[in-house]
Amino acid sequence: MDISVVIPLYNEIESLPELTSWISSVMTENRFTYEIILVDDGSTDGSWGMIMKLRDGNPFIRGFRFRRNYGKSAALNIGFDAALGDVVITMDADLQDSPDEIPELYRRVKEENYDLISGWKAKRYDPISKTIPTKLFNAATRKMSGIKNLHDFNCGLKAYRNTVVKNIEVYGEMHRYIPVLAKWAGFTQIGEQVVEHRARKYGKTKFGWSRFINGFLDLLSIFFVGKFGKRPMHFFGSMGTLSFFAGIIIAVWMLVEKVYLIAHHLPYRDVTSNPLFYIALVAIILGSQLFLTGFVAELVSRNSNDRNNYQIAETI
Ligand code: UDP
Ligand code: MG
Repeated sequence: MDISVVIPLYNEIESLPELTSWISSVMTENRFTYEIILVDDGSTDGSWGMIMKLRDGNPFIRGFRFRRNYGKSAALNIGFDAALGDVVITMDADLQDSPDEIPELYRRVKEENYDLISGWKAKRYDPISKTIPTKLFNAATRKMSGIKNLHDFNCGLKAYRNTVVKNIEVYGEMHRYIPVLAKWAGFTQIGEQVVEHRARKYGKTKFGWSRFINGFLDLLSIFFVGKFGKRPMHFFGSMGTLSFFAGIIIAVWMLVEKVYLIAHHLPYRDVTSNPLFYIALVAIILGSQLFLTGFVAELVSRNSNDRNNYQIAETI
């Protein structure tokens, strides 16, 4: 199979007929073998009924339904697991992304050997309250991830080589950082394609203001998880050790000083009146606490596999 189109959706009933028929006509015109994987992320507007209806008229549609809303990342992950095509295309369900971009994305992954190509909505039809924070978010992600050539990390329209989606795990709010996850998994051929961005035709956006706060927290957590997630002991342990030995060195220095002063019959202050004493005490206690935190985190991270605890209710 040439292409799997993976579409996470939450209450997008109005868009689905137009979206699926548009994708199918692009695929047929270009003689691609394909599937459209619709992942219903717990819609309450009857989207699933619509998917089943569309499936009756279009055998290339596959559907998965979550029992409740688990978020865009979980929905994408289901699609990634299921995808059979050589190239996997993700797109939003709201007709903001154009299926007409698919042939060029496919060609570039196949012929130019890209692992991942992210759409770049160079000209956006979103309010300024959304575009400015998005610019800041992208600049920060570029800096922290070292992927310098992407302008738009969070664009819903992306193309992947099949092996990429099989080797990354998207959970929590990670859909905003898929290029970063791909890079960590060792896929370095990451490119960009300017894509058309259309105004939302039906329904309304599912992400409000809280997305920017969540996005910022995700950015910090992904940075730490990426750097230290697998080995928390390396982070906490080294800070703890550093702090602990700094405290010990100060304490030893105070002892040496005291011995020297006594030996030379010079006056010396009582240790508890020396501020260094308290600094050493705090550093030693803090150091051992940090070390133990790292130890516990290491135990937890080695024993947890509860990231994807969502359940699929129905499949067609
Ligand atoms: N979406 C989803 N689960 C959610 C929220 C959104 O599957 O909990 C889907 C949504 O239906 C759409 C895509 O993710 O297909 C992007 O969402 P939206 O268009 O609301 O985001 P925006 O374009 O405003 O950034
Ligand atoms: Mg949208």
